[in-house]
Amino acid sequence: MNWALFGASTIASQYMISAIRANAGQVSWVVSGSRDRAERYARDNGIARGTSEMEEALNDPSVDAVYISSTNEKHKDQALAAIAAGKHVLCEKPLAMTLSDAARMVAAAREKGVTLMVNHHLRCAGSHRAIRKLIAEGAIGALRSVRVFHAVHLPEHLRGWRLDNPGAGGGVVLDMTVHDTDTVRFLLGEDPVSVTAETDATGMGAGVEDSAMSVWRMQSGTMVFSHVSFNHPFGTTGVEIHGSDGAIFAPGVISQDPKGEVWLTTSEGRREITFDRGNLYDSVLVEFGKAVRGEAHSGATGLDGVKSLAVALAVREAARTGQRQPLQFEEIA
Ligand code: NDP
Repeated sequence: MNWALFGASTIASQYMISAIRANAGQVSWVVSGSRDRAERYARDNGIARGTSEMEEALNDPSVDAVYISSTNEKHKDQALAAIAAGKHVLCEKPLAMTLSDAARMVAAAREKGVTLMVNHHLRCAGSHRAIRKLIAEGAIGALRSVRVFHAVHLPEHLRGWRLDNPGAGGGVVLDMTVHDTDTVRFLLGEDPVSVTAETDATGMGAGVEDSAMSVWRMQSGTMVFSHVSFNHPFGTTGVEIHGSDGAIFAPGVISQDPKGEVWLTTSEGRREITFDRGNLYDSVLVEFGKAVRGEAHSGATGLDGVKSLAVALAVREAARTGQRQPLQFEEIA
């Protein structure tokens, strides 16, 4: 597959360009807000062409797909333009800034008959696939609760728009709660029906929250706790899932890399579960390829992206109002 990148971003240079190439793909264009930056980024990353005009890349008939990793407020217009040009789209999270924009993107891709996938990479990790399988097989019995630990320290080189630009989609909720949502929905195979939350601005961000704790009720009644933060220098990540017959402890698995451990504890004792340690983003691209070919896949669809955004927005609203927020996904399906 031949790709155009919309966004001369860190995630593309650190992970996605190499993942595209590892999947026998090529990257022919990078589009940036600045032509100079586009050209420099193209040179640094071995990309044939850099431009500030997205139409140049979209008019190239050899481009099959667009990977969007610009700041969040640009995702919608860039995705709609790529879809209108008949390109498949892999879009970064959050899909958009509002639910109606995200729903528009999903509808546009459906109408045009192109794939729209969201880069929720965690569902493509071997660890999370192993946990999902254990739950589905009934290894821990009836589910009681899930705890997601995702309070970390934002690396220095990412302390830009995430911390000081609400208009670009800054703030930890749009950045990380969306990932927790998609991961829990993937692990449990069900949606949240309501959320309550508290957020905090502990001084790291200017004008946006840098920490959030939220509690969600799932369709089955299972309770979920999600803790996200940019401001925990000694924080670690992980997931715990508790059931009537056992528990799964998975420290370190909320990561961009194939890290962490998965442990199953039941009345028979505690045993480590092995899992595939392949690159998560390579795996996203494998799922994207399947979706484009019309095959069954386990990547995050546009609708999955709408749902993760819906929960994140509800978490913010719950924290703002102090009121539990109901979620009704039938309305946005
Ligand atoms: P970056 O800040 O690295 O890039 C975002 C935009 O900022 C770029 O498109 C670029 O704009 C501009 N930019 C970046 N670096 C510079 C610079 N040195 N000088 C001037 N402008 C610069 O963001 P991330 O890569 O961290 O995130 C991009 C998107 O990817 C976001 O939507 C984020 O939520 C998502 N993301 C997803 C992850 C995942 O695992 N799924 C992980 C990390 C991020 P321009 O293109 O106009 O030049």
